[in-house]
Parts: sequence; C-alpha cells; structure tokens
Amino acid sequence: MVDNELSRRQVLRGAAAGATLALTAAPFTATPAAAAVLGEYDVVVVGAGAAGMTAALTAARRGLSTLVVEKAPTFGGSAARSGAGIWIPNNEVILAAGVPDTPQKAATYLSAVVGPSIPAARQQAFLNNGPAMLSFVMGNSPLRFRWMEGYSDYYPNLPGGMPNGRSVEPDYLDGNILGAELAHLNAPYMAVPAGMVVFSADYKWLNLSTVNLRGLAVATECLARGTAAAFRGEKPLTMGQSLAAGLRAGLMAANVPVWLNTPLLDLVIENGRATGVQVSRNGATGTIKARRGVIVGSGGFEHNAAMRSQYQRQPIGTQWTVGAKENTGDGILAGQRAGASLDLMDDAWWGPAIPLPDTPYFCLAERTLPGGLMVDAGGERFVNEAAPYSDVVHVMYDRNPTDPCIPAWLIVDQNYRNRYLFKDVVPTFPFPASWYSSGAVVKSSSVDGLASAMGVPAATLRSTVSRFNGFARSGTDADFARGATAYDHYYTDPAVSPNSCLAPLWLPPYYAFKIVPGDLGTKGGMVTDAKARVLRANGTVIPGLYAAGNASSAVMGRSYAGAGSTIGPAMTFGYIAANDI
Ligand SMILES: Cc1cc2nc3c(=O)[nH]c(=O)nc-3n(C[C@H](O)[C@H](O)[C@H](O)COP(=O)(O)OP(=O)(O)OC[C@H]3O[C@@H](n4cnc5c(N)ncnc54)[C@H](O)[C@@H]3O)c2cc1C
Repeated sequence: MVDNELSRRQVLRGAAAGATLALTAAPFTATPAAAAVLGEYDVVVVGAGAAGMTAALTAARRGLSTLVVEKAPTFGGSAARSGAGIWIPNNEVILAAGVPDTPQKAATYLSAVVGPSIPAARQQAFLNNGPAMLSFVMGNSPLRFRWMEGYSDYYPNLPGGMPNGRSVEPDYLDGNILGAELAHLNAPYMAVPAGMVVFSADYKWLNLSTVNLRGLAVATECLARGTAAAFRGEKPLTMGQSLAAGLRAGLMAANVPVWLNTPLLDLVIENGRATGVQVSRNGATGTIKARRGVIVGSGGFEHNAAMRSQYQRQPIGTQWTVGAKENTGDGILAGQRAGASLDLMDDAWWGPAIPLPDTPYFCLAERTLPGGLMVDAGGERFVNEAAPYSDVVHVMYDRNPTDPCIPAWLIVDQNYRNRYLFKDVVPTFPFPASWYSSGAVVKSSSVDGLASAMGVPAATLRSTVSRFNGFARSGTDADFARGATAYDHYYTDPAVSPNSCLAPLWLPPYYAFKIVPGDLGTKGGMVTDAKARVLRANGTVIPGLYAAGNASSAVMGRSYAGAGSTIGPAMTFGYIAANDI
C-alpha cells in the first residue's frame, strides 16, 4: 500500500515533469508518459460519502489494499449533512427491537413501491445484503444504530408496509474518536442547537415541545444528553455527522487512506476494463492504478447546472438542492465516457423547499403539521400536503406539464405559528426580516390580503381555505385524503382531532411560504446490476467498474420506500460492490 507521504512525493515529481492531461470525450487511457502514477491499490473508491466509505471499509476488511479519493477538503459528502435515516428491512437492530419484519414482507413491499422497472434481482440484492451490510458496519466501526420507532414506511398501506417503521439511524458518537481528523468532517446541513444532543427521531417531538408533554420531555432529554456530553468532555455527534464520523473511524482502524482535495477527473480504461482513475492532487494530474476494480461513490449531479438543464424538467437549477456542493456528477460523466448507460436522470430525491435567502429549507414537519395547506398559483389545493416529499414534487411538475405548479405556496395561520417550531424559529417568535425581504414569505392580516401579496385570485384562495377548514372540522379531506395513512400522521400534532393532520386556519395574521422543488440530491446515474457492476446500454458489464449511491441509478426507481431510502441502498450497494471485487 502506498502511504500518503510517498504519494505526495510522487505527485510533486509528476508536477515537476509538467504532467498535465486534457479531458476528452473519450475515456482516459493511461500511458507512462501521460501522467504520474500516484499509487497502485487493489481497489480505488471515488468519494468519501455513504456509499464510498462503506465500500472502502468492506474492501479493506476483505483484505484488499484500498484507497479513497475525495474531491472535497472534507469527508462525508451529503451523508454528513443528512439526518441519516437508513431504510434496511430485516436488519438486526429492528429485529432485536421486536419489529415484526420478514424477508417476504420486505420483498412484497419493495416491489409494490418501486414497480417492475427495477429488476427484481437488484431489489433482492438490496434486501438480501442490507442486513448483512449493517451488521458488518457495526462489526468494523464504532457505529451503532437505533430504530426510528414510529417513523412509518412511506406507503404503509401497501402490502408488506410497516406503519411503525423499519428505519434506523446512527447512535451517538463522541467525535473525539477521530482526533484531528474530526476537523475534516463535512458540516451538517443544520447545526443542532448548542448544548443539545438530538437524534432524527427526536425532530418530530421537538416541533411539538410547547404543546405536547412528550415533546417537552424529548426536548429536556436532548438538553440532558448535551449536558452529560459536555460534562464528559465529549464532542457529541448524531445523525449524518455520526454516520460519516463512524465510517471514517472504521477506515482509520482499517488503515484506509482517504485523500482529500483529490477529485476524480476521469476513469482509466484499458482494453475496455476500468484499471484506475485519473485525479488531480496538489495541483497536478496523475493516475492511480486499481488492480481489482474502481468503485464510484461520487454522489449525484445536484450541483451541475448543465446536467440539470440537459436532463431535468424546468424550472430547475442548482439553487434549491441541499446536497453537498461537490456533487457535480463527475463520476457519472466519467462513467458515461467509459460507455455506461444512464437512467433516471430526470428524477431526484425531491422535497418541497422554501427558498430562504441563506439556504433552501427542505421542510418536512412544517408542511404536514395541522393548520397548513398548499396551493398552486391559482390559489387551489393540488396535493395531499402530508404525502411523501418526493411525491409532492412529482405532483408539482406533473399536474400541468406545460405549466408546472412552481412556485407553489404553503399557507399557515397564527394559531399554527403559536404552536409549532418552524425551522429553528420557536413558536410565537417573528420570522427573520430577510425571509420577507427576499420574497420567500409573505404575511397579511386577512386571507384576501395574503392572496394579493401572493398574486393569486382572492376569491379562489378564500374558498380553498374555507373548504379546507370544513375538512378539518369533519376530519375527512375529501379532496386529497390527507390523514389516510400512518405516514401522513407522523409529523402531526396528536392533540388535534378528529384528524391530527388537519386543523382550520382562522387566526390572523396568515403567512404564505414559497415552495420550490428542492432535493436531497439526484437519483439518476450509471445503470448497475445486482452486483453493483456498471452496465453498458447493451446490458454488458464494464469490467472493473462499479457504482453505488447517487452516482448510480436508484434501486428505488422513482419512489421512496421509507426514511433512509437513499443511504440504505447507497451503503448496501457499496458493500455489494466491494464484496464482488
Ligand atoms: C440535509 C440532508 C438530509 C438528508 N437526510 C437523509 C436521510 O435521513 N436518509 C437518507 O437516506 N438520505 C438522506 N439524505 C440524502 C443522502 O445524504 C444522500 O442521498 C446520500 O448521502 C448519497 O450517498 P452517496 O455516497 O451517493 O453521496 P454522498 O454521501 O454525497 O458522497 C459523495 C462524495 O463524493 C464526493 N465527490 C463528488 N465528486 C467527486 C470527484 N470528482 N472525485 C472524488 N470525490 C467526489 C463528494 O464530495 C462526496 O463526499 C439527506 C441529504 C441531505 C443533504
């Protein structure tokens, strides 16, 4: 195995020799004169995110010399920014917690969710290997996982669906285990309030902490955890921070180098086989040989404006995604140059987002808590607001293909504001002035005034609110069946009856939030088989080339089975790829 210092010297030699390479449309073919060889490993993994780090850990623990190259100055990618829900049916954590899952239920459910367009062998590979992957990760890193009890599958009414959920999330980790490497952990999307230790599963209750005893108890527990951690001198990590740090700690223990600031530029293809990667490192270009294979885990193309515009429906850009900024589709493009077939490029892990001035806000609970509804530019409701977030955006695009529902609006009243947290603004507190000045939010003392500020017909909005209020009183949403599934009720207020998803809007002022198609990342990429091997358009394998995570076309197809449907498969196919190698 080449150590970092040796490779650094090799890079410098390469730079001194003036070794530079231009990218061409054809895959890169290495020749000794073309670029410095920076190292040689059994396996080179591209990207230190969920898929890449799991793949590298697996390869290393199977006895293969392994290197991870990472474009960013940090490791963790979107995974580190995430809530790190992980959807893996039948894993040992949920089975130990008594979740009544079975392989048959999971297979029935997944196939009902994703449909026939995703080959059954790939679905089965995910379901068969997911539990083993999670056990392997626990056996080879400090990571432990907790069941997200009650976080329903997203379609609990489908056969095999589980209303009480089968997702897990990482347990608490003390960041001190990483030593100085902790400084290289990618930052979270939203920082946890100082002094608190919060799990993803707490989020539902924190929204309710001023109106619900359990909410108050959970908030108190989060504070108590924070105090205890401070007392012990720990650096508390949960959610994506815990996941990324735990995987990194596993790699450190397995002596896997992670080269930061080392973007993949292209794949090295020799005689049709992937034999290495071309990277940029310390200002020079060089190649790294991969004797056994290359695993691409370089994430999606959410921050690549040209690819967005080429493949996705309009309007779309790079300003509404919350994915890691380095995810610009580099691995997908390199795979495409090597002959990979691409699929699902028009789709993403969508979610309604508010285009706040500092960052797009991917709103979950805010959209589904009672006392809020969504309308289109005509002032009419168009969707079950509590539906899975990807589905809501699909409806925004699909409802009228020539005139998509973008932006839509989320409307709430002061009663809602008095009860629930909104992003990090506590109940009753005013929103920042910049939210208003940016146009992301408008406010009025009447529904008519709100309609005028939004630019929608006042009579329609009045009638929409009045009809919705009738549904709230009766408990039945006759238009969009909001509240018909356990998933709808997850981020709601149990104190509200007869339907915890629905409350009337009656107390001025009223607020309207612009809603745009945000995403957690894209889900289209290289087509892979059940062994995570990259396929050409004719279905043949590109030898030596594997892809996992958002660099590959999602096993979830156009759907989203439950909380963690991106990270669960990303880690699992990273594991599968390394095992196949
Ligand atoms: C705020 C937020 C919350 C989320 N919550 C959840 C959740 O709870 N559950 C869930 O399942 N999903 C969640 N997601 C989505 C999830 O994080 C991603 O889908 C997942 O991390 C994808 O895994 P990946 O390994 O493909 O990509 P990533 O984890 O993004 O890793 C890709 C890595 O590749 C690197 N890279 C990119 N280009 C190159 C290159 N040219 N060379 C080398 N390296 C490169 C990137 O810098 C990055 O480190 C969330 C995402 C966000 C942003």
